[in-house]
Amino acid sequence: MNENTPRVVVIGAGFGGLRAARALAKAPVNVTLMDRNNYHLFQPLLYQVATAGLAPEEIAYPIRRILRNQKNLDFRMADVVGIDLDARQVITNDGNIPYDLLIVAVGGMTNYYGLESVKSTGFELKGLHDANAIRNHLLFQFEQAAHEPDASRRQAQLTFVLVGGGPTGVECAGAIAELTRIVLAKDYPTINIKDVRVVLLEASDHLLTGIPLRLSEAAAETLWSKHVEVRFGNAVIDFDGQQIFLKSGERLPCQTLIWAAGVRAAGLADKLRVEKGRQGRIKVTQTLQLPQYPQVFVIGDAAYLEDENGQPLPMVAPVAIQQANLAVANIRRLISGETLREFHYKDPGALATIGRNAAVAHLGRWNFTGFLAWVTWLVVHIFQLIGFRNRLIVLINWAWDYIFYDRGVRLIIPQEKLKIEMIEPDVPTKVAV
Ligand SMILES: Cc1cc2nc3c(=O)[nH]c(=O)nc-3n(C[C@H](O)[C@H](O)[C@H](O)COP(=O)(O)OP(=O)(O)OC[C@H]3O[C@@H](n4cnc5c(N)ncnc54)[C@H](O)[C@@H]3O)c2cc1C
Repeated sequence: MNENTPRVVVIGAGFGGLRAARALAKAPVNVTLMDRNNYHLFQPLLYQVATAGLAPEEIAYPIRRILRNQKNLDFRMADVVGIDLDARQVITNDGNIPYDLLIVAVGGMTNYYGLESVKSTGFELKGLHDANAIRNHLLFQFEQAAHEPDASRRQAQLTFVLVGGGPTGVECAGAIAELTRIVLAKDYPTINIKDVRVVLLEASDHLLTGIPLRLSEAAAETLWSKHVEVRFGNAVIDFDGQQIFLKSGERLPCQTLIWAAGVRAAGLADKLRVEKGRQGRIKVTQTLQLPQYPQVFVIGDAAYLEDENGQPLPMVAPVAIQQANLAVANIRRLISGETLREFHYKDPGALATIGRNAAVAHLGRWNFTGFLAWVTWLVVHIFQLIGFRNRLIVLINWAWDYIFYDRGVRLIIPQEKLKIEMIEPDVPTKVAV
């Protein structure tokens, strides 16, 4: 390709960005894919890393490995700190990169709705470092409780509270309950399992918004059967690391709060002076472009677009992937002077697992629960993982855990001190464009 070949920069190698970069393989463009990490992360299985079921490298895959055969692509590991939309430059911590066309696919981050105490004292589940931190903490709580003489302190150490009854909260609660009851109960014979509490707090009156009520009730019943206390209609207002303060005035002694109650667009969206919708997401046209800057496409969690009923599209992987496909198709049309197409979301449905043999599935007209839903969940997730090696290892791990009632990654590994200056996700920077 000559120097007049258009340069497409893709920011973010998550579900949307990676799909877009791959789909551009045969387009008459040069592609620069950028991410602050050198790996693509399969976020739906993060909770399994947090609960000692899988190792981090089993759900992450090096970006350079995935794309090494793509001739028109160059990968840059860098933190994007701003975009100069008028000068058509991506501003990074490592210099500026010009573009002719841009795809912004920076995803989302945790939304604490201003609850600073929860942000500083609780845990979130967004990246591998979060999952490692939760796993270390859960196991360390058991180490401490095993020789804690004071009963009330011990119970607080062994109380694990998840906030938010969406897929992450539900799946994580089920997995923690099983980790503690099936595996850790054997590792720590001096701990009375009755001291262990797993609590799922949901502010509304049902779990897994968006799926039929029957499935949502089935999910709550299954969680109860696995010893998870599911509590509705109460919001968290504070957490000091020793107790949770609820809106009702109740205090819940506990040392572990995992916040899964909100998402918003990633920090880069805040830095752009363009119109935003709910959750700080960037408003795009039906063709996925910025209204004032048609050479810029925004897709996935970072983009705000409403469906036919005026509801914002959900922040889920299928939206990001379908939007990536359309953004690339529209870039091709833009280059060849054709009319661009509009985005229409095709909802493939929802799946959530609640531990061993239990899941709920809402796939079009098909709604089902129990073992069949669980097998469907397993097959879909194995199929979606990137890399044959990862698929095989995850499959072997799951089979081992299923047969032997075990969890292979019960290691407390203090977070490494890196010798290079690592990029802090979404920290405010001086550059604002
Ligand atoms: C724990 C968890 C479980 C989930 N489970 C499901 C599920 O079961 N099913 C489902 O459909 N969805 C699920 N989701 C949501 C799904 O992961 C997201 O909707 C999807 O990842 C959005 O894709 P995206 O491409 O917009 O962003 P992402 O996949 O989040 O990718 C964004 C990428 O941009 C990079 N990035 C961000 N900011 C910068 C910057 N400034 N500079 C450089 N790089 C940057 C990030 O490192 C990341 O690689 C889950 C999410 C989480 C956190």
